[in-house]
Amino acid sequence: MTDTDSGDVFDRVAVDLDRVAGLADAELVHAVRVDGSCGWLATGDQAPGWTGDDRADRALAARVCAGCPVQRECLEWDLRELRAGRTATTGVWGPVAPMDLPAVFVSWSDRRDGARPAGGR
Ligand code: SF4
Repeated sequence: MTDTDSGDVFDRVAVDLDRVAGLADAELVHAVRVDGSCGWLATGDQAPGWTGDDRADRALAARVCAGCPVQRECLEWDLRELRAGRTATTGVWGPVAPMDLPAVFVSWSDRRDGARPAGGR
């Protein structure tokens, strides 16, 4: 994948998030807490088998997120938290790899209001 391809992917993610742009913060939080796969796993009997190894646990989290019905709401909330200068990642680890989140944020904020998070990230 080229840098241009990566940029296109991040732009497409940002465009897709327009579908939840009209939701209030409380609605995003509610959706994630009620319907997020990670919340269900945490309260059920099938908690992921966390290993304590960051790489392995991130792969495990990615599998949980892959089937989650509220990925958009979760990512939108994460990005709003970033914009407010707070630490993102609302569920297990959020539906986007941490290394990709800044690039997604740039595309997302350019579509919204051009706001950058507090602290200039
Ligand atoms: S962290 Fe993953 S599983 Fe949890 S709400 Fe977000 S997308 Fe869903």
